[in-house]
Amino acid sequence: MPTKKLKYYLFVIGCQMNLSDAERLETILQSIGYTKTTKEAEADFIGVVSCAVRQKAMDRIYGKIRQWNLIKESRPLITLLTGCVLKHDKNKLKYQFDILLDMKDIQKLPEQLQSRQATLGNFIPAISYLQIKPSYESKFKAYVPIMTGCNKFCTYCAVPYTRGPEVSRPAEEIFTEIKELLNKGYKEITLLGQNVNSYGLDNKDTRSPNYKKKMLSFAELLEKINSWRGDFWLRFVTSHPYDMSDDLISVMAERKHLAEYLHLPVQSGNNDILKKMNRYYTVESYLEKLFDIRQKIPGISVSTDIIVGFAGETEKQFLDTAKLMQQAKYDMAYIAQYSPRPGTSAHRLYKDSVPAEEKKRRENYLNEILKTTAKEYNQKFTNQFTTVLVDGIKNKKLYGKNREFKTVQFIGQKKLIGNFVKVKIKNTGPWGLIGNKIK
Ligand code: SAH
Ligand code: SF4
Repeated sequence: MPTKKLKYYLFVIGCQMNLSDAERLETILQSIGYTKTTKEAEADFIGVVSCAVRQKAMDRIYGKIRQWNLIKESRPLITLLTGCVLKHDKNKLKYQFDILLDMKDIQKLPEQLQSRQATLGNFIPAISYLQIKPSYESKFKAYVPIMTGCNKFCTYCAVPYTRGPEVSRPAEEIFTEIKELLNKGYKEITLLGQNVNSYGLDNKDTRSPNYKKKMLSFAELLEKINSWRGDFWLRFVTSHPYDMSDDLISVMAERKHLAEYLHLPVQSGNNDILKKMNRYYTVESYLEKLFDIRQKIPGISVSTDIIVGFAGETEKQFLDTAKLMQQAKYDMAYIAQYSPRPGTSAHRLYKDSVPAEEKKRRENYLNEILKTTAKEYNQKFTNQFTTVLVDGIKNKKLYGKNREFKTVQFIGQKKLIGNFVKVKIKNTGPWGLIGNKIK
């Protein structure tokens, strides 16, 4: 038995998948006797769930580990690096961190810790890390991973190198996790994967444990969950436009548990750039799909990811993206400046030719377009009723998201947090809605 309660602190950056992975890491740490702290200064163990998508995130980790190694001069501290890490960074950081583990091997953490810190004992290992029961951050909404890895190899992207090939999680395991959540009264489930639309397709991949197995398609998986009884919302991220099937659109159009929200990353509005990015679609085919979705699911809100200043992007090519944004009328867009990632083919083949300040200008330019289209979309909610899943309270106002993933604020009691509440919208802006609770 440990003589004093050991404390852990987690530093998590990046996407929802990392947040979800951190919830599984917490289960392991708690099961061997650690308690959580939100203060780095009092931690005996610090774990990093890293993101390799942009250099900025990695730079933060390099800064942090320098500080943590200084702490070690005055007291014991164990550090772990896991999550998405490129080989290039692994080679540099293996001398700085005490433990380096891929997320898929995270069950090995207890044995690694036992030789360094007095822990309670061994964690009961699961066959795959996704079988570890997560310590969910929220009591009413949860992320549920349905697959790991990515086979798309977009030329700029680190993910296929850090997460490996696509492996779908068995449908029964996903259903069991969701049913347990729903039985506990959870109100919102978000299915996670780098490219959820290719769920099940790895049964044709010799590298996958699912090779030759009978697997459900993503549309079939959704259809099943969508048919369940209960009062809950279902979301998913992220969809690659190439695999966005008609079957999937039909299930979404049923509008039952599946919310009217779709994240459909376009990355660029120029066909030569899309080809250079290895995205498998053209601007025309993307827009055709988007308009089809909007026609079949009127009122759906659509967000996207865009990269500005990708290797060699000219002004004219950039303006094509601006034009696409005006046509697509997104109500949310996550605009990123291109960041070359060592080991990716874009890093190897192309020069990062667009200067930093020009990337910034392009980002700002697109954000201005977004502001206009988002404002226009949100205005449609004026004087309408909308249901909100209340997330929290800030400045005496409750806030939460509606089915369209819009942030809604209204006055109400704290006890409504975690509940669905009907609100009449009074004011709208590009980034959210304000209304009154219906009595
Ligand atoms: N699987 C998801 C994306 C995961 S990465 C998808 O395909 O939609 C999230 C976003 O980060 C990407 O959509 C892209 O816009 C951005 N991104 C990825 N690599 C990047 C890079 N090297 N530089 C800048 N942005 C990048
Ligand atoms: Fe990266 Fe492309 Fe895979 Fe998304 S689909 S994770 S951007 S390689």
